[in-house]
Amino acid sequence: MLDTRTLYAVLVLLYLLFGVQQLATWRLRYGGSPMLLWALSNLAGFAANGLIGLRDRIPDFWSIIVANGLVLLSFGLMWAGLRRFAELRVSWRLVLLAPAALMLLLWQVDAVGRNLSVRILLMAALLAGYSAACLVDAWRAQRREPLRMRYAAMLAFALLLLVMPVRALVTLRLGAPTQGYLSPDLTQALVTLMVVLTVLLWNLSIMSMSHERLENRLRGMAYNDPLTGAYNRAGFRNLAQRQLQRSARDRQPVSLLLMDLDHFKRINDHHGHEAGDGLLRGFVEAVQQWVRPGDLLARYGGEEFCVLLPGSQASEAEVVAERIRAGFEQLRLGGALAAVGTTVSIGVAELPTASVDLEEALRRADQALYAAKHDGRNRVVLAAPPAPGGGAQ
Ligand code: GH3
Ligand code: MG
Ligand code: MG
Repeated sequence: MLDTRTLYAVLVLLYLLFGVQQLATWRLRYGGSPMLLWALSNLAGFAANGLIGLRDRIPDFWSIIVANGLVLLSFGLMWAGLRRFAELRVSWRLVLLAPAALMLLLWQVDAVGRNLSVRILLMAALLAGYSAACLVDAWRAQRREPLRMRYAAMLAFALLLLVMPVRALVTLRLGAPTQGYLSPDLTQALVTLMVVLTVLLWNLSIMSMSHERLENRLRGMAYNDPLTGAYNRAGFRNLAQRQLQRSARDRQPVSLLLMDLDHFKRINDHHGHEAGDGLLRGFVEAVQQWVRPGDLLARYGGEEFCVLLPGSQASEAEVVAERIRAGFEQLRLGGALAAVGTTVSIGVAELPTASVDLEEALRRADQALYAAKHDGRNRVVLAAPPAPGGGAQ
């Protein structure tokens, strides 16, 4: 049922299609150097398997020596692309010299070059080595930058790692396939089928991983403030609305802090805009330490910030606000910012139970903040609960 030659033709075609598609993708300035390396890896795979397919019709030098060298190069480039994608250093010496050394070995040492069993065992060991390296690197990269589709790539490497020893064992027990890689027997057909599946899986996971990374980065840009890394207004509204729905369902209290740095214009005037930027960054970094991990901190405007505190009543929010106020007053940043410091005024508002009206809470927090400024700054003011029948839902 499974015809090795047909499967082989499919494999060669897949390598070519993916190679050309990735090259075109790279030319469109998408995917960067990993995409180029993966395109070249596929094209090397295409050339290698094309040459193997022409066995007995072209000189052995091409169908054995060059073809095996290209197979190894193809795996090396796949690994190099994977490491580049993970922003890890690539050992070009290994990627380029390993195929050259292999070709020299196959060419000069007849016991290796002219013996199919030895060749299969050697290649199985080398390719299993690359597959293991890819799996380990992908695993490490996943911990730094989780991408759902990276698991598909890891599955492809795991499959390769499974196929290679099986292939070596079958060769050791049954001897080499009679007609080389293209033998019509079931083992060879199954090995080729597995390789076709892993090539498909790997290449589809490449495109999906690149999309996923781009999507994550775009979302980060849309929802985060580039200066401080805190959420921006859009990110805050999006996440806060969702949190309010959850809290309303569970009838949990929610409070809101609105904070504005005092006399910030003077900081810019006296120390320069860059010092002002540094202080904004320092403020966010410090506040992250003073709130809980589930609290949402956002830069709401120039030097205006807000925090949503799920699970906190007004009295608890007031304690957090006071911790921020007092902490910021004491905060001394290092380096060029050593002499730069100011205070913060904070308005606190608790949302009525089960309310999802963020705007109403922001309005009251803003009134409280205004009162804090009016009363001399560097203070926390608690907003009055909303008037009965007013904005609360
Ligand atoms: P107040 O105590 O009343 O809040 O006084 P203020 O000077 O802080 O208030 P105002 O709103 O008049 O000034 C805010 C200043 O914040 C003006 C603007 O130059 C500065 N600012 C806004 N965004 C940034 C920024 O991204 N970087 C820097 N360095 N300064 C900024
Ligand atoms: Mg201000
Ligand atoms: Mg302001």
